Amino acid sequence: MEEKCTAIVLAAGQGKRMGSKIQKQFLEIQGKPVLYYSLACFEASPLIEDIVLVTGEDCISYCQREIVEKYHLKKVKKIVAGGKERYDSVYAGLLACENSDYVFIHDGARPFLDGQILERAFFAVKECRACVVGMPSKDTVKIADEDGYVVDTPERKRVWMIQTPQVFAYDVIRQAHEEIRQGDMRGITDDAMVVEQQGKYQVKMVEGSYKNMKITTPEDLLVAESFLKE
Ligand code: C5P
Repeated sequence: MEEKCTAIVLAAGQGKRMGSKIQKQFLEIQGKPVLYYSLACFEASPLIEDIVLVTGEDCISYCQREIVEKYHLKKVKKIVAGGKERYDSVYAGLLACENSDYVFIHDGARPFLDGQILERAFFAVKECRACVVGMPSKDTVKIADEDGYVVDTPERKRVWMIQTPQVFAYDVIRQAHEEIRQGDMRGITDDAMVVEQQGKYQVKMVEGSYKNMKITTPEDLLVAESFLKE
């Protein structure tokens, strides 16, 4: 590969909505931790040169031993401590990259990533410098005011449910983070928002898959198990 692509895999969240003592990215589906599956997808992709894994300070040695060494994930070159918010963890991952041209930022809680999604995203990022994976909404979406009354119904064909990876030219996302970090980052829930707020680059949508779900609540684990049994 001419350009160096690095995957930043995020696994530093607490996963409170799962209601489990074990963080959701370490819960097992079909005998392997949720986090293993997306790491294995990046490991197998010829597009990806290396992987930076971001996890809690107290989980670094567990990840090294029980995931990276156990499953022989050779592309995981660094495991670094994340931060309080997701964007803090992303920033820690960005600082750990070495000479990367493109970064694929991915939630470790999304096990059903596939190689075709990575290819579509790579194609798009080379053209636009910033892209996010998502799928058109199956449901009608309504915007409500603070009292719960509908104020708008966006045209459904233009509503996308956002997934990861979110893929950027390294300098684009790094500069956007440096700039936006000077101000108020509350309310930033994904990586594209950092670039959107900076306003220098347009973010392109790339088709993901309806399977590329995020494990958030206990029923998501049942769905994930059934996908793997297929
Ligand atoms: O909490 P949420 O489901 O939005 O988290 C999405 C991903 O970001 C998860 O893989 C989680 O581990 C990660 N995350 C993180 N650092 C945080 C919060 C979330 O790495 N402070």
